[in-house]
Amino acid sequence: TEKTTTDINRVLSNVIVISRNEWKHYADVIEKFDPEIPHIPCYINEVNQVFLNLIVNAVQAIQEAGRKPSEGIITVKTTSLDDSILISISDNGTGIPKENRSKIFNPFFTTKEVGKGTGQGLSITHDIVTVRHGGRIWFETEMGKGTTFHVLLPAEDRSG
Ligand code: ADP
Ligand code: MG
Repeated sequence: TEKTTTDINRVLSNVIVISRNEWKHYADVIEKFDPEIPHIPCYINEVNQVFLNLIVNAVQAIQEAGRKPSEGIITVKTTSLDDSILISISDNGTGIPKENRSKIFNPFFTTKEVGKGTGQGLSITHDIVTVRHGGRIWFETEMGKGTTFHVLLPAEDRSG
């Protein structure tokens, strides 16, 4: 398969709609889309998987934080940069404890009970972003406040 020139705002709204049953009882999802982001070359199915993984993780972190349904907030933001686009997914969930921060991208690292997570999501996500698209992924987190995952995708084809 080849990369397809894609409107990432559309991919994100679609993921938000199809994942509604995952988040509707726990959080609101707020879209802060930059309408000016360029369409970028990508493997649509794979970037779909990336954003679904990040949203499901955000919902689970909000659930774990024990927030009331009306208090969970997930913000999905896009920003146009010089030669790339930035997608940021924020939650007001548990945060990631210091001792786990260096491990979360490792295959099979999970803090979730059996059946809820296999620990493969972020490992695959990392691979899709970096190896397949020549992008970058990183996070900011604060215990008790929440976590933001940032995904930077090149606007021009660089790899994969
Ligand atoms: P899984 O979701 O199956 O556990 P992932 O690779 O998606 O596997 O995530 C690995 C671990 O990283 C999770 O078990 C959790 O401890 C941590 N994590 C990921 N995303 C978040 C988040 N948004 N907030 C808090 N912890 C997170
Ligand atoms: Mg996961």
